[in-house]
Order: sequence, then C-alpha cells, then structure tokens
Amino acid sequence: MRLINIASNSSTWRGLDYYKEKNIVNYKKISDFEYSGIPIGSNKEKYNVFMDMEHPRKSKCNCPHAKDKRIICKHIVALYFTVFPSKVDQFLKEVEEANQQYEEYEKELYRKTIEYINNMSKSELQKALVETLNYAPEWLYERFVRNNVGFQ
Ligand SMILES: [Zn+2]
Repeated sequence: MRLINIASNSSTWRGLDYYKEKNIVNYKKISDFEYSGIPIGSNKEKYNVFMDMEHPRKSKCNCPHAKDKRIICKHIVALYFTVFPSKVDQFLKEVEEANQQYEEYEKELYRKTIEYINNMSKSELQKALVETLNYAPEWLYERFVRNNVGFQ
C-alpha cells in the first residue's frame, strides 16, 4: 500500500498545500526508504516527521493529530511530496482520472434511468410518481401540485 493511499483525504490535500508552501524546511535520507524532516507548523512549532516508504504505517509525526497513533498526517504527506515531487503530478492525474470515471458513471447511470423510465407502462409510471411524491421534499411536492393540479 502506498503511503498516500492510507492517508485520509483531508491529510492528503492539506499535505499537498504544505508541500506547495515549502513547509518542510529540511529533510534527510536515513536509508533507501526512510526519510525524516521538519515542517514549520502554522503556530511555528516544529515537529519531527519520519517517513517509511516500505512500511508506510511505521511513519510517524509528533504533531497532536498523529502523535502515538498510526496516522499519516498532513506533515508526513508534505514530506512525501517534498522528497518525491514527481508524485504530485501522478497524484493529481489519478484524482482527475477518478473524477472523470465518476462523471462517466453518473452520465451512464442517468442515461440508463431515462431509458428505464421510457420503457415503463402508464400504470407503472403513475405508481412510481405517487411513490416519489410521497418521499419528495415539501418544495418539490408543492411545486408539482402548483404546476399540475393548480389547487392552492
Ligand atoms: Zn503531523
């Protein structure tokens, strides 16, 4: 599992911001897969960040969020992007691809739904509409009544 995949969404994006703001003031390579670094926190407090690429769960940071927990915090993510800047583009590309896939899925789902509706019989449509109105939010129910029944 890649380090970035076990970080939460918010830690990943905030870590990316930290990287862009050059928040990691210095880092050093401990071994082929271990790095340490020091970020500047917003409160000017310095934390010690340790990153293990081979065993991402062994990565550590002593900020309040990650201290004594096996959490990949924004500082570890920032260190990761600082050490491997090419991973930024890769990450952004993956996000874009995932968004595109989701959009295509949504479009396809919409298309299938319309197709399904077009194939429903009148009685099926009537039943579905009544059911839908029963669960519709009040504004939608009222709009339907106003536009179609005309009764105030
Ligand atoms: Zn941290």
